[in-house]
Amino acid sequence: MPSNVELIARLAYIDEKLDDMHAELGDLPKLVKKLEDKLRHRMRLVEETQKALNDIAHFRSMMRMRLQELADKEAELNQKQFGGQIRNNREFDAITHEIEFIRAERLRIEQELAQNAIKEENLTGLLERQKADVEETTKELREREEELNALATEQDTEFRKLQSERKAIIEQLSAEWYAEYERIRSYHADAAVHVRKGSCSGCFSAIPAQVLVEMRNYPERMFVCEHCGRILYPEHYRIEEEELT
Ligand SMILES: [Zn+2]
Repeated sequence: MPSNVELIARLAYIDEKLDDMHAELGDLPKLVKKLEDKLRHRMRLVEETQKALNDIAHFRSMMRMRLQELADKEAELNQKQFGGQIRNNREFDAITHEIEFIRAERLRIEQELAQNAIKEENLTGLLERQKADVEETTKELREREEELNALATEQDTEFRKLQSERKAIIEQLSAEWYAEYERIRSYHADAAVHVRKGSCSGCFSAIPAQVLVEMRNYPERMFVCEHCGRILYPEHYRIEEEELT
């Protein structure tokens, strides 16, 4: 049965790997979320521009109908004015006035239609650019989603393996050691570190010679760095990548 210190070294190794996996996935879910928001925003812009263009088209057809009405009305008035039905000057002037009013109205509408044509051209250009933006973001989002899915699938197998190894270690580790390890982990992700050249490899401060001697003499005792509070274990318990099965 492996000693507590040996188990702690293995646990530290596994937790480091799990933390790395978490970090690897790290920004990707957030990035996907951000791209989703960006896409939604860009789609909304397309909708708004499309609506503005629809409004312009609607306005144009209304105004064209109105222009036709005005033209008909003007023709009718012309007919009346020169058709010999006028009884007096006052009536003639009234019709002239009405025709002037109609012409002014037609001019105003035509100017407005010209302005709208410019606006429509600008909006059409804008819509094209906005649609291209949507396409670009859709593509980027799809790529990132695929990346995330691939990574999550790949990690899933590794994750399960590490979790089951972690469980096996904890079952053998003394409850006291495990509680202490977890307590330290709340402020040091690497709660247990090896001794390297007489120093703590977590904070690099030197370990007193007396403590180093005691660590050799009492392998079942827990030693912590006086400086940073991490659990210390001898370098020969340090796990290298290929050792863990
Ligand atoms: Zn330390």
